[in-house]
This record gives sequence, C-alpha cells and structure tokens, in this order.
Amino acid sequence: MSPFVSAPIAAIATAPGRGGVGIVRVSGRDLGAFVRGLFQRDLTPRHAHLLPFRDGDGEVLDEGLALFFPAPHSYTGEDVLELQGHGGPAVLRRVLDLCLRAGADLGMRLAEPGEFTQRAFLNDRIDLAQAEAVADLIEATSDAAARGAMASLSGVFSARVTALADRIVHLRMLVEATLDFPEEEIDFLEKYQARPLLQGLRDELDAILAQTRQGVILREGLHVVLAGRPNVGKSSLLNALAGDEVAIVTPIAGTTRDKVVQEIHIEGVPLHVVDTAGLRETDDPVEKIGIGRTWQEIAKADVILHLVDAGAPDEDMDAGIAEKLPRGVPVVKVVNKIDLEAAGGPGHVPGSAQDALALRSQAGIDGTLRISAKTGAGLDRLRKALLDIAGWNPGGESPWLARERHLRALQDASDHLQLATEHAALDDRVLDLFAEELRLAHDSLGSITGRFTSDDLLGEIFSSFCIGK
Ligand code: GDP
Ligand code: ZN
Repeated sequence: MSPFVSAPIAAIATAPGRGGVGIVRVSGRDLGAFVRGLFQRDLTPRHAHLLPFRDGDGEVLDEGLALFFPAPHSYTGEDVLELQGHGGPAVLRRVLDLCLRAGADLGMRLAEPGEFTQRAFLNDRIDLAQAEAVADLIEATSDAAARGAMASLSGVFSARVTALADRIVHLRMLVEATLDFPEEEIDFLEKYQARPLLQGLRDELDAILAQTRQGVILREGLHVVLAGRPNVGKSSLLNALAGDEVAIVTPIAGTTRDKVVQEIHIEGVPLHVVDTAGLRETDDPVEKIGIGRTWQEIAKADVILHLVDAGAPDEDMDAGIAEKLPRGVPVVKVVNKIDLEAAGGPGHVPGSAQDALALRSQAGIDGTLRISAKTGAGLDRLRKALLDIAGWNPGGESPWLARERHLRALQDASDHLQLATEHAALDDRVLDLFAEELRLAHDSLGSITGRFTSDDLLGEIFSSFCIGK
C-alpha cells in the first residue's frame, strides 16, 4: 500500500449545516502520539472524555467529547479518534484544521468520500456488500428501505452468498481432487452425487436471486411517467399520489411546461413519478420545449401511465399519443375523471355497453384503470398495479437491500451453474469443463462480497459515498 493510501485521514462526519452536535473523525495507523499532542494526555480507550479542544496557541476552539478507539476495535480497523463538538460549520472547520495541523507530520490529509468505510473494507471489518449497505442506509428514504439496508449491513445478504460460495467450493474440491487422479475420474458424477448437489446449489441461487430482485426494487424504485394530452389530470394525479400539492394544477391547458418529479412510496417502494407537459400540437416555443422534454422522459420510463379524460374523450388524439409511445415499456391506460361520468355525463345510457366496459375495466380485465384524481376513486388499484409492474412481491421474508451490481453477479453465477449442469448431463469426460464453470460461478459470487474485485470498481463504489463516512 502506498503511503498516500495509508496516511491518516480526517473529515467532518456530520452533515453540512447546523446541528446540535458535529463530529470530526480521524483514522490512522498509529494515532497514540497524535492524541497526546492534542490533549497533553492519553485517552482511555472507548471512553468519553469531556475536554477542551485547544489549538497550538492554547486557544479553546470548542469543548466536547473526545473518544479514542484503538485498532483494531474501531469502525475502520485503524486507530480512530472522534471529536464531538458543537454542530456549526465554522467551529467544525476549525476543529478539523486543528487536527490536520496536529497530524501534519504524520501526513494527515482530508478524507475522500467513503474513505473511512473503504478502510473498514480493506481491513476486513466489513465486506463489500456491507460497505455498500452503509451508503444505502444513509440514502434510504423509506422505513422499508432503511430496514432492508440494515439487513444487508448486518450481513444477512453476505452470509447467504458466502454460504452458497462455500458449497460451490466444496464441490469444486471434490472434482479437482478427482481430476488429479485420472483413474478415479470414472463415475465421479455418480459416486459423489454431483448432479443432485449441483441442483441444490442452483435452487439456493434462485432463491437468493428472487430476494435480491426485491432488494433492488426497494433500492432503485420505479420511474413512472405521466403522459397524455393537456388537462387530462396528470398534475392532479401526481398530487393525489403524493398527498400534497407539488405540481401546479390549473384549468388552463398547457400549464405544466417543465417536468416535476416527486418521490412517493408505496409499501415502502420508492416511485419516482414524473409529471410532464401535456402532449399536443402547439406553436408556442416554450411549450414545444416542454413537450420535447416529455418525450425524453417517456424514453427513460420504466412504466408509462397514459392518462385520458373520461369527461372529455378525444379518441383520435389519445390514439395518436398511444401510437407514439415506445414499445417494450409497460403502458397503463388510465381513464381519469370517472366522477364526471358517474354523475351521468352527456349521452350516458344506464345499463349500456359503456357500463359493461366500465365494469370490466374496473376489474382490471382489459388492462385499463379507471380513476378519479379528484375523489381518489381507483387510486388503490393503481398503486397496486404499479407495484405489480415493478415486480414487487416480497413474500414472507423481508428483503435485504441490493444493487444492480449484485443482481448481475448472481445472474452471472447462475449462467455458469447452468453450463456446469449441461456438462454434467454428458459424462465424466468433460469433468474439467464442469470444474471450470464451478470456478467461474464462485468468482462471480466473490465479486459481491469483494473477494474478487477490481480497483476501478472499488473506486466507483466508494466515490459515491458522502465525505466523512
Ligand atoms: P394536466 O394538464 O393533465 O396536468 O391536468 P391538471 O391536473 O392540471 O387538471 C386539469 C383540470 O382537470 C383541472 O381543472 C383539474 O381540477 C381537473 N381534474 C383533474 N382530475 C380530475 C378528476 O378526476 N375529476 C374532475 N372532475 N376533474 C379533474
Ligand atoms: Zn399538468
């Protein structure tokens, strides 16, 4: 490790701004002398000391708690000093500068984003999936996401992955021992029950994959775009889903000229709902820009809610929009303002085919949802439909939070176990190929917990952390 990498680091660990308490955190290989330099005394390990924080001239910058965690029993696995003072930006800045000056001869520098956690990973305090969970716990915006992140942080996910990896290693050892003694190669698959063992591994991997998919949904959420012509009630629906006034609702067509994004939660699953400018032919240059952006949003959507107006149908225009929506993205047609219809709008004949259609679609049979953003009718069904489309189905187990990266690694492992199964379906003459696929599956699983990871990937993961974590 280069001296730069192992130099002691310091940072303000609490969020910028003002708060009751602010924390400056220092981590390094051997901070004993540094601590003595700061306080003219030793600190009892893991005890809170109420002390003045003095600079070199003896000026008291702040007074607060100093806690010293000698290696290896600390967050990073190195010596860690925590100074808990008053949570103001200027005072914290001064305490941080004090540390940097006092640690200058050790090469102390400002910590990079996530560097404390990166050191915890490099010193084997936590594995990579747990380190990612630290950031995800901080980012979590719903109870369910926070609970999921905590499950990952406590190692629930890592333990499942590691246990599976160990079972693969066991099978690999059996095969490789056999490969070393060719006379025993005959009947290996039979003798060691390799096929059923492999099937057991694949079943467990499938179970982990299913849970992890739920964890990714819980972390990433779903990008929902509200589309439709002006005045069908897109902004009203966003407000109804969000439960407060976020978008401007007005009876003048073409008001929502820029996009409005609102994060809402349904059963703890985050949904990023984008309200867009109404889609229509226009000569207004500003409105044109809004409509251009709407199409950009539509292109990025995981699901599109295509709103139409039950009170003022315009089938030609709605059909024109429907035609231009991208293929391959789920589109839910949402008929809004059914309250107007129920009141017996113009041309309404009770008991007509129209009513039959309405009943059918209320049952969700033809994939059209009927709602009223005004009265709230049908919104629960809409929420449920959105969760279904997201694939949200956590079953009994509460999911751990997971990332796309984990999903790709599990899928990759699954592909290799599939290939191993195909080799095993032949006979013992391809045992070496069988062994190789097991090795590759094992490596993929190892990338989740960070046993096999590139520096690039580590850099990418930790640079997205906040500073001081
Ligand atoms: P947008 O242009 O698609 O965003 O439509 P708005 O949400 O701005 O709504 C246009 C008008 O329709 C407003 O006057 C709303 O109050 C009204 N509106 C929206 N949803 C409903 C509904 O479900 N029922 C009734 N009766 N009016 C609605
Ligand atoms: Zn609008």
